[in-house]
Amino acid sequence: MLQLITILNRCHRFPGFVYRNARFSPDHKSIEIAVRPRKGSAAVCSRCRQPAPGYDQLSERRFEFIPFWGFLVFLLYSMRRVDCRTCQAVVVEEVPWADGKRMLTRAYMLFLARWARRLSWKETAEAFRTSWEKVFDAVEHVVTFGLEHRVLGQIDAIGVDEIQYAKGHKYLTLVYQIDLGITRLLWVGKERTIESFQGFFTAMGREVISKIAFVCSDMWEPYLKLIRENCSEALHILDRFHIVANMNKALDNVRAEETGRMKREGRAPVLRKSRWLLLRRSENLGAEQHFRLRDLLRYNLKTVRAYLLKEAFQQLWEYSSPFWAGKFLDEWCRQTMRSRIEPMKKIARSLRNHRELILNYFRAQKLLSSGVVEGLNNKAKVTMRKSYGFRTYRCLELALYHSLGKLPEPESTHDFF
Ligand SMILES: [Zn+2]
Repeated sequence: MLQLITILNRCHRFPGFVYRNARFSPDHKSIEIAVRPRKGSAAVCSRCRQPAPGYDQLSERRFEFIPFWGFLVFLLYSMRRVDCRTCQAVVVEEVPWADGKRMLTRAYMLFLARWARRLSWKETAEAFRTSWEKVFDAVEHVVTFGLEHRVLGQIDAIGVDEIQYAKGHKYLTLVYQIDLGITRLLWVGKERTIESFQGFFTAMGREVISKIAFVCSDMWEPYLKLIRENCSEALHILDRFHIVANMNKALDNVRAEETGRMKREGRAPVLRKSRWLLLRRSENLGAEQHFRLRDLLRYNLKTVRAYLLKEAFQQLWEYSSPFWAGKFLDEWCRQTMRSRIEPMKKIARSLRNHRELILNYFRAQKLLSSGVVEGLNNKAKVTMRKSYGFRTYRCLELALYHSLGKLPEPESTHDFF
């Protein structure tokens, strides 16, 4: 008869330890399996990782293992303490199935963490009848391992982005690797400050930073300065995604302001519910929306003029040559500066100031598709949305690394799926 211990020996076996017996807990809700040291095998000091003579034994601890057919599973083991000569101290032993003081076995942590990438942490906890805190522990364990063991290698291109989190104006800075072969989250910084962003360059080290050839970012001046200082050799590109996002924001301000003004003046609310009509690219609108948009465009409104400027600007991305793209950009800015629409003029001024960085997009032969940063940004937002249990910055940081970092995972004795 196939016994539980036979299965465990097949999938979760460690030299130096043996499984003794498996039994139900008194309430029959969980299975408990005793673990003993193999006869004659010495305990290993958890500080220096060397075998050391035994000192004494602590009381039995319960390590939670992957649930099995609707039963919780616990490994019961009494940790030994060793009298380690190298460390000159009495130290608790290291056990291969668990990590320090954590209650979950490594196998179970990896199992939970993998699910926590697909489900929200709350759902993961519910699905496996465990607590949110344990899911947190599991993800923290796996991410910490991943960050310690990841290989940075050569990084050709990075994208810098920020996202708002929590309520109010709290920002995270995210740095992605956006090479052709690999895209991943490299770094998360708390807040949007020069000091926090400097942390990225420090964390990566000069060796890696000096080889970066392309940097994509938005137009936030302190970042631009820091990038110039740290990656002086790199081609710095203001990427398409951020420029379009800024322009949409400007258009939205014009619309909101004008809607309010028309309401105060008692005019027909023609701009009502126009927000998505105007922000979406016209080719993404349905037939009914097209009709409404065409109707709207007949009015001589600031919003309409701002919309037309925004749509005209899209042509920029069609150019291949930096020279002609530059010509187009200059002409667009000239027209916009005469539009008397302040938010759009502000964009034009900013584009003029960063003309060379924008044209770098064309000099880089559009090698770096802006879609990459945009895609990662969307994934980051989804991760945050799934995170309605994330009470702290630390949780969010872990979740982002976990879902976007492509981090290496701890090795496992078996592929528990
Ligand atoms: Zn030691």
